[in-house]
Amino acid sequence: MNKTFIAIFLAIIISIVNYNSVYAQTKQNFNADNAYKYLKTQTDMGVRHYGSAGHSKVRAFIKNEMARLGYKAEVHNFKAPYIENRNGENIYAFLKGKSDKYIILASHYDTRSVAEKDSTAANRNKPIVGANDGGSSTAVLLELMRILKQKEEQLPYSVAFVFFDLEDDGAIYNSNI
Ligand SMILES: [Zn+2]
Repeated sequence: MNKTFIAIFLAIIISIVNYNSVYAQTKQNFNADNAYKYLKTQTDMGVRHYGSAGHSKVRAFIKNEMARLGYKAEVHNFKAPYIENRNGENIYAFLKGKSDKYIILASHYDTRSVAEKDSTAANRNKPIVGANDGGSSTAVLLELMRILKQKEEQLPYSVAFVFFDLEDDGAIYNSNI
């Protein structure tokens, strides 16, 4: 083996070991109670579909929590492609790892304005509180932001955390979305 080969070989091994240790620590540090609190905070806001009071509240909550965890919250404003007059706000933040390559971790934070597939017919024109759909993935993403921030210097890749808006009503207006 020549020296270049050995150096490359060692670099690969070190990066694999490093990746595995960060990954293992992330799993260990994930706090289920904290994630559950993030979920409960959202469901306590009530329904969170576009235009609801909960929708404004959850936007503010995500941005405040990002700031509290030491991130710079960024927003991307857009118009819904499936219906007029809906102004979306995707919320995102970055974590700079050792590489300029990014891993995107994402969730949507809005909830469905109608439960059109509910087994109970009387519920089908009502909005859902979205503990699972929207709420749980948003909670997990916030908890990941919390623990990965503590490992910032060790991360082999940079991370983009994205909370999408206006995701959940698309299929109601346009089955192609
Ligand atoms: Zn959904």
